[in-house]
Amino acid sequence: MPRPSVLISGASVTGTTLAHWLGRYGFATTVVERFDQLREEGHNVDVRGAGREVLRRMGLEDAALAENTGETGTVFVDDDGAPIASFAASTDDTTGATAELEILRGRLAGLIHDTTTADTEYLFGDRIADLQDTADGVEVTFASGATRRFDLVLVAEGVNSRTRRFVSGAPARRYLGMYCAYLTIPRTAEDDDTWRWYNALGGRSVNLRPDNVGTTRALLNFLSDTRGIDQLDRDGQVTILRRVFADAGWAAPRVLAALDDAPFYFEDLAQVHLDRWSRGRVALAGDAAHCASPVSGMGTTLGVTGAYVLATEIARATRGDTVDHRAAFDRYEEILRPYVAKAQKLPPGVPGVANPRTRRGRALFRTALRVAASAPARKIGSLGGRYFTPPADDFVLPDVVTGRLASAAG
Ligand SMILES: Cc1cc2nc3c(=O)[nH]c(=O)nc-3n(C[C@H](O)[C@H](O)[C@H](O)COP(=O)(O)OP(=O)(O)OC[C@H]3O[C@@H](n4cnc5c(N)ncnc54)[C@H](O)[C@@H]3O)c2cc1C
Repeated sequence: MPRPSVLISGASVTGTTLAHWLGRYGFATTVVERFDQLREEGHNVDVRGAGREVLRRMGLEDAALAENTGETGTVFVDDDGAPIASFAASTDDTTGATAELEILRGRLAGLIHDTTTADTEYLFGDRIADLQDTADGVEVTFASGATRRFDLVLVAEGVNSRTRRFVSGAPARRYLGMYCAYLTIPRTAEDDDTWRWYNALGGRSVNLRPDNVGTTRALLNFLSDTRGIDQLDRDGQVTILRRVFADAGWAAPRVLAALDDAPFYFEDLAQVHLDRWSRGRVALAGDAAHCASPVSGMGTTLGVTGAYVLATEIARATRGDTVDHRAAFDRYEEILRPYVAKAQKLPPGVPGVANPRTRRGRALFRTALRVAASAPARKIGSLGGRYFTPPADDFVLPDVVTGRLASAAG
């Protein structure tokens, strides 16, 4: 019997998780990624709560923990790098600024990719140029000129997805007013295994984090009311970073000196809000559907959890070679939306409060951090808990589907 065919667009965490589960459930799965290979850029991402359970069900938890970046905690530092407040890494599924499971984004996507079934087809260096949703399926035209028909198309292209326009023409991105530059720089003898976070004035912060591949991950954040810097080419972005961080202090000169040669990813922080995550046979997943932003601490958890829910509801709504896509996509939204809504609700003042513009704002922030790091506050888990622990475990995963399709996958 022919198997229903699914095209997934985007081969990062969400796309590869969809491919894992759909492959396991017995679908004929194709993944298209606009880059020529799996992307390596990015820093630590954390997987918490329900996301950890999804990794467990994929048989990947131990492998992911073995790839931990080794970050032992989060330390806020002053102009000289001396600690102001320290928070140890978590030792459970869900809590902490440094979660128990911190893994490089590229490594996580690579691990999941390696678990997809051997008959999962990958098309690198291509993308969807056009699609027509017909009674018989979706006719897809790729940028390479190839045309193919699929029963379903799932879009996991991240926050700036272009294919999202086939589901909704409404503006989906809500900008949070902060740019982030993620760099990989040489590790030096003065680097330790903590996430060091320095607040410069003017809404800027400089962060250094360890990784498990012998380099250091640097993050430059700055608040700005001007949008569109992420649309500049790399040289334009680097010029702006040099200007903005010229007098930022602490490790800023070292990071700026490494800018020209460093692997680099730049983003204008945004959330994605949409009334509907599907239209006809096309559905959105991960950041393309509901980005909560890196400051939520939930992006990757939502990506793997949502991908599991979507693939599972598609399997549940499939009889033979026919998918009741409306039923599947409705259930997917019904199950996932409350979880997404909680994740997208950021603590008051985020991201501005953690990137103060004024001396007074910074002094208040540092006082709050000292209190949160103090023994009594740790005991009641108040401020630190609220700011650093997203609602990752507040979700009941639907059961894995077993049966004909699943057994067809072996
Ligand atoms: C390079 C990179 C680095 C990141 N670094 C961090 C980080 O350091 N910290 C953090 O918290 N989050 C980071 N993120 C975001 C994080 O991966 C997501 O928030 C979360 O894991 C959910 O991922 P996603 O798979 O839904 O989207 P993403 O991880 O954004 O992946 C989208 C994928 O789709 C591909 N794509 C985009 N458009 C098309 C198209 N038209 N056709 C085909 N493929 C397309 C992209 O190349 C990418 O591989 C990064 C994302 C990327 C792409």
